[in-house]
Amino acid sequence: RQAKLQDILNSRSITRDGVEIELFGNIEIPDDVEQVLAANAGGIGLFRSEFLFLSEDDLPTEEEQYQAYKAVTERMGGQPVIIRTIDLGKDKIPKWQTETDSPNPALGLTGVRLCLAEAGMFRIQLRALLRASAHGKIKLLVPMLSHVGEVKQVRRHIEETKAQLQREGIAFDDAIELGGMIEVPAAALTVAHFLHHLDFASIGTNDLIQYTLAVDRNDDAVSHLYDPVHPAVLQLLEHIIGTCNRMNKPISMCGEMAGDPVLTRILLGLGLRRFSMLPTQILKVKQQVLDTDLAEVRDLVGQLLQAENADEARALLKQLQY
Ligand code: PEP
Ligand code: MG
Repeated sequence: RQAKLQDILNSRSITRDGVEIELFGNIEIPDDVEQVLAANAGGIGLFRSEFLFLSEDDLPTEEEQYQAYKAVTERMGGQPVIIRTIDLGKDKIPKWQTETDSPNPALGLTGVRLCLAEAGMFRIQLRALLRASAHGKIKLLVPMLSHVGEVKQVRRHIEETKAQLQREGIAFDDAIELGGMIEVPAAALTVAHFLHHLDFASIGTNDLIQYTLAVDRNDDAVSHLYDPVHPAVLQLLEHIIGTCNRMNKPISMCGEMAGDPVLTRILLGLGLRRFSMLPTQILKVKQQVLDTDLAEVRDLVGQLLQAENADEARALLKQLQY
């Protein structure tokens, strides 16, 4: 099996009927880039930048962040590197934040909410990211969006940071793209509004499933209820992907669902063409892509969307494993 997967390392990622599918890697620390390159991915679809904030006692400085973002970007050559802005709070609590007093951190000051509340910390990161953007193809991705106003506020911070760098004569990519994570049901349902203010979107299924099904993603007591093929999740995915495709906005998926080869055909049938995953999953998913005929899976996925419950969906899913 492993030898077979290695055989496809250099083949194009293309369906049987000739549609190109982008397969990107997720990373947490700069060293993870080597695995992404070894899997011959098309780029980095999710750099979880908050990991730079978890290991130290203090916040990383602008220079430390700049060096990390630049190293990853340079190592990737001209390939795209999508860096997510700080997604702390929830399950990722930095040492300097010691204890969160939020009664329910998953619904608290997390992701973009924390960045907008701690604008000083956010502006330092934006400076580092913009400076690094002079060295390759960096795109920015904002986590945990639930209000369109958050995108507008982030854009204002980016514009002000650009103006500041310009005054200082420091180089950056003025055309840097801004994407948003669709991982809260409110953003999924109103994705069209968000797309008016974004260059691209990326679906975070880990959180989207958690919030849609009201199942804590880290609680073993309810892990049996955490199901990516629950009809509610599938319908939201269809809505997000369909809306983005109709509006000609690039849409990718960077949650764990994107790296599960059992689910690849569902996602292809829903119209997804860009996937980002743990580097270890890339060749397994590529194998599925190479073995898939899009016209064939579209019909079955249409039936899957009518499923009344996750059991029924799973039975139909079996028919997609050929
Ligand atoms: C997600 O929620 O699916 C995601 C990619 O982000 P994280 O797992 O870091 O919350
Ligand atoms: Mg998330």
